[in-house]
Parts: sequence; C-alpha cells; structure tokens
Amino acid sequence: MITALCGGVGGSKLALGLYRILPPDSLHVIVNTADDLELWGLRISPDLDTVAYTLGGIAQQELGWGIEGDTFHALRGLETYGLDTWFRVGDRDLATHIYRTDALKRGESLTSCTAHLASRLGIRADVLPMTDDAVATRLLTGDRWLDFQEYFVRERHALSIDDVRYVGVEAARPTDAVLEAIRSAEVIVLVNSNPVLSILPILSVPGIREAIEGSPSPRVAVSPMIGASSVTGPAGALMRLTGHPPTSAGLAALYRNLIDGIVLDSQDERQRGEVEAMRIGVLATNTIMRTDADRDRVAAETIRFARSLR
Ligand code: GDP
Repeated sequence: MITALCGGVGGSKLALGLYRILPPDSLHVIVNTADDLELWGLRISPDLDTVAYTLGGIAQQELGWGIEGDTFHALRGLETYGLDTWFRVGDRDLATHIYRTDALKRGESLTSCTAHLASRLGIRADVLPMTDDAVATRLLTGDRWLDFQEYFVRERHALSIDDVRYVGVEAARPTDAVLEAIRSAEVIVLVNSNPVLSILPILSVPGIREAIEGSPSPRVAVSPMIGASSVTGPAGALMRLTGHPPTSAGLAALYRNLIDGIVLDSQDERQRGEVEAMRIGVLATNTIMRTDADRDRVAAETIRFARSLR
C-alpha cells in the first residue's frame, strides 16, 4: 500500500503516475479539503474533485480543473440571474456538487460520499478527504483576509500574501480511514503540491503529522520547486511564510522529521549537500511531468528511491 498526501492540479499529476504504475486497490490519496467552498448553496471540494477526475480519466487536460468536454450552460444561466460566476463550474462538474451537497444533507460523511463518487468513476484507489470537519484556508493581503478561492481564482493568486490560516483546523479530526492509510502505508509520498496551500493544511489536522512522524515506513517528498521558484503557481512566493527559502532545500527543511528523502530536479543537484546535511536522502531527476510517461517515470523513481531509504 502506498499513501500519498495531495492537493489538486499540480499534485494530481504525480498521484496519477502512482495510480497508473501500482496494482489496483493499492493507493490511498489523502486530499486537502481546506480549499472547499460553498457556492450557490452547493458544497464544492476542488482538490477532491481534481484528484477524482484525474484518476478517473475524465479531467480537463489543459486547464487542469473540471471535466474534459464539459459545457457551461448552467453557469450562463446563473449569470443571467446576476450571480457571480468567477468560479467556473461546468455542467457535468455541477452534478458532482449536487450529489455531494445532497449526500451531506442526508447525513453522509464527506469520506463516504467521496468514496461513492470515486467508485462510480471507476477508480480503484481510495480518495480520502483529510477530515470530515470544516477547515478553511484564509489568506491575509494587507489588512484584508480573503477566502482561498477569492485569492486563487478571483484574484488569480496575483496578490502578495502576508499570512495564512487554516481556520477550524485545531478542532478538526483526521478520519479513521486517513489514520489507517498512514498506518498501513509501505511508503508515504508528499506529492509536489503547493506546500503552504495543500500539504500544510493536511499536516495541520491534529494527529496526521504525528502519525507520519511515527511511521516506520519510508516517507518521501517530491519537490514542486526548481531553482528559487515553483514550476507553476504561487508555491515559491508562499514559502516565505514558512520562514524557509523557496527552494527544494528549503522544502526539505520545512518537512524535516517528516521525510526520509526528497526528490528534486536534476537542475538542483547542487542542493544535494545541503539536504543530505539534514540527514534527508536525495534523488535528483527530471521532475517535470508533461506526459503520462513522465508521470509514470517520476512515480516509479520516487517509489524505488523511497524503498531504498529505510
Ligand atoms: P496543488 O497544490 O496540487 O493543488 O496544485 P497547484 O496547481 O497549485 O500545483 C502545486 C505545485 O505543483 C506547483 O507549485 C508547481 O510548482 C508544481 N508542479 C506543477 N507541475 C509540476 C511538474 O511537472 N513537476 C513538478 N515537480 N512540480 C510541478
């Protein structure tokens, strides 16, 4: 069993590689839910859906979110009624949110309705919300606190961020399924998701970090950084909030005690010494994942590297 901690678009590239190279039913993906939002009365879980659509083979490839070939008639209808539609939801995607909202209203847990969605999409892996409780990432820009999607989608992550909070996380509990996935993992992978926006919210749910720290199995991270910035998105800029530099070595320092090894890009081979001095192993390889073959290769190399560590 392999357990991955994952955000949405960037991280699901590696999650898909892991899914493709592993036998069926041997991958658990613990997914960030601190980006979740309520919109038009619907509960939307962007990272859970991105992972499910990606593993289910229906994700929109170019945008990285939504469903391939989806239409936007409902969204245009909402526009007609004067509603804000900067958060774009396709028609088939809408069905997911309607299903989830209805299931939650009927008293189902987020874990159980996600399992149902994933199974109906034909996914032979466990897609697990980090918690069934409400957690919300909020970001401070100047003197204004923004909701995650206001920052990420409406403002296109162009604002400079002074602080981040995962509201509700102290009271959140990891689900039994999450703790069991960590306990039974032969390898734990912190995928190349945005550390501040996707991985730290998961690690901040009380009990999850401790479970990973206490795991006797090898734990590895794959870096989203090349040089002094992230491959895409604001991950590099947000690393400043952690007090670590926006490099793979900075990430290794952030994940210290949690990981036995880090996969960084060959271009950052010169950071090897600094990382190894933290007693963290290094695999330097091409970490850019454009094609399925890239995703499979990075996934396979990551697992092989992890198994060599402990
Ligand atoms: P999320 O955090 O997984 O929800 O998704 P993002 O789309 O914000 O991406 C997270 C990180 O993935 C970004 O900071 C990118 O630097 C990184 N990323 C995107 N594509 C690649 C890739 O091909 N290789 C590596 N190593 N990182 C990538």
